Amino acid sequence: MEVAKCSKCRQVKDIGQFLIRSDTGKRRGVCHTCRKVYQSKWDKNNAEKTKERRRKKFFRYMSVHIFKSSEYEQALRDLAEQGKYVCPYTGAPLIPGDGMHLDHIKSKALHPELSKNLSNLMWISEWANWAKGMLSPQEFVDKCQVVVKYTEEHGVPKGGQDDNN
Ligand SMILES: [Zn+2]
Repeated sequence: MEVAKCSKCRQVKDIGQFLIRSDTGKRRGVCHTCRKVYQSKWDKNNAEKTKERRRKKFFRYMSVHIFKSSEYEQALRDLAEQGKYVCPYTGAPLIPGDGMHLDHIKSKALHPELSKNLSNLMWISEWANWAKGMLSPQEFVDKCQVVVKYTEEHGVPKGGQDDNN
């Protein structure tokens, strides 16, 4: 049996445990087991880096979008971290760049003077932001409760044109 010594774990193993590199055509110096450990560490590290890059890009974009300047990038990130990346209305996880919206607690339309005020901003999920619209937090929650209460009694509206009903 042909054997080789792994340069990582120093164990002598069957030559079949040392795979041929597709790029160079040469046999690897580390065994398959060590190689798998290395590969999964690399993948994990790389996924972290990709995630961090995406976050940075997202907060910078939002800072420019709201404040016309990238200087609020960190402040917006701090805001998300204070909220632990959880939507305070739905409990849904908030993922930068994926359905995570910045809500103006007091709406831009009714309070334009607060549109660039950090204390008037809150990260919430996309659909919660759509549904909230120009409402205050309390009005939004109250109206959601009205919808739940009424539709529990009367059913979800179906509309008149749907052939399936
Ligand atoms: Zn090894």
